[in-house]
Amino acid sequence: MENKKINHSALHEKDGISAPEMISTNAVAQILKLRKNQVSSKELIEGILSGNIASLSRAITLVESTNANHLAKANEIINACLPFANKSVRIGITGVPGVGKSTFIEAFGKHLTSLGKKVAVLAVDPSSTISHGSILGDKTRMEELVKDPNAYIRPSASGETLGGVARKTRETITLCEAAGFDTILIETVGVGQSETAVHSMVDFFLLLKISGAGDELQGIKRGIMEMADAIIINKADGDNIKKANLAKAEFNRALHLFPAKKSGWTPTTSTYSAITQDGIPEVWQTILKFLELTKGNNYFFEKRKEQNQYWMLETINEQLKTNFYNHPEIQKLLESTKKAVSADEISPFAAAQELLNVYQNYKKLS
Ligand code: GDP
Repeated sequence: MENKKINHSALHEKDGISAPEMISTNAVAQILKLRKNQVSSKELIEGILSGNIASLSRAITLVESTNANHLAKANEIINACLPFANKSVRIGITGVPGVGKSTFIEAFGKHLTSLGKKVAVLAVDPSSTISHGSILGDKTRMEELVKDPNAYIRPSASGETLGGVARKTRETITLCEAAGFDTILIETVGVGQSETAVHSMVDFFLLLKISGAGDELQGIKRGIMEMADAIIINKADGDNIKKANLAKAEFNRALHLFPAKKSGWTPTTSTYSAITQDGIPEVWQTILKFLELTKGNNYFFEKRKEQNQYWMLETINEQLKTNFYNHPEIQKLLESTKKAVSADEISPFAAAQELLNVYQNYKKLS
């Protein structure tokens, strides 16, 4: 266990790694064919709907592209896939680097496939520098799950903004679901804003923690606690067991101080160890109970509708921002206007308005 690097998660992709052995020569041949030829959207859609992984990977690469033609093709594919998506449970998993996310996902994913589930593991990591179009990254990451024919692992998309990276993952969910994956695990690092983005695309949100020096709640952001549907105290093994149980009790007390959730669900706390594997079936049982409750009271379906609207608005915001900052006139004026604002030569509000006016005028002319 100890020799495993902390980067072995779906969040990261290493450069220059050849196709893993577990991809059959047949699948590699299919991928190469898809890469070489301009495969039509129709062929990709048919491939995805029949569960063809090469088609799925190719379509995700289109979603991740910045090329306008690729994006148009991606939109066409996503629209065609939509009626076949949605039949899944989407689970977000967060925790600081080193907490044990990838080790947990490996064990949890294997448990799920042993129950007959088809599991897709995606990630949201705005700092990722994945090379586009690579088949699969790090061979050693989730080494058992990666060989499982009922699991599909896709590292985080790259991008300059969290919004962009998150949107691509949101669209990838649709494609994976249409390809028959019924359990979607979305990993994110517990630093920065990425949890909020992941929370807005999942049904159930899991927070992984390790027991510290007895002062468990220190340094943990209130917002993340509020988002969590379950908190798992990880690495509850060896000398850690007692500390883990104390941490569990402390989190439990803290969770009860929060106002009741709209879902009607009371967040749970539990302990888990990747070494003993104790606690994995219980996590799935908890999620099943959550689904029973929230489908019964309709919260599950209402939340998904809200999330769809959220992603529509997010996409508009993202697109408007990109168009604005990429506009040649704005690029010409932005630096000098920033300097003028810093030197108090113009108020930030007037400067913003001026730039927006320039942009709008050029839009009208074009
Ligand atoms: P991530 O960065 O959150 O994905 O963390 P990893 O899954 O890479 O785990 C970080 C380190 O913790 C690795 O060395 C793992 O072997 C170790 N680890 C993970 N889970 C457990 C556990 O349950 N018990 C113990 N003792 N070590 C663990």
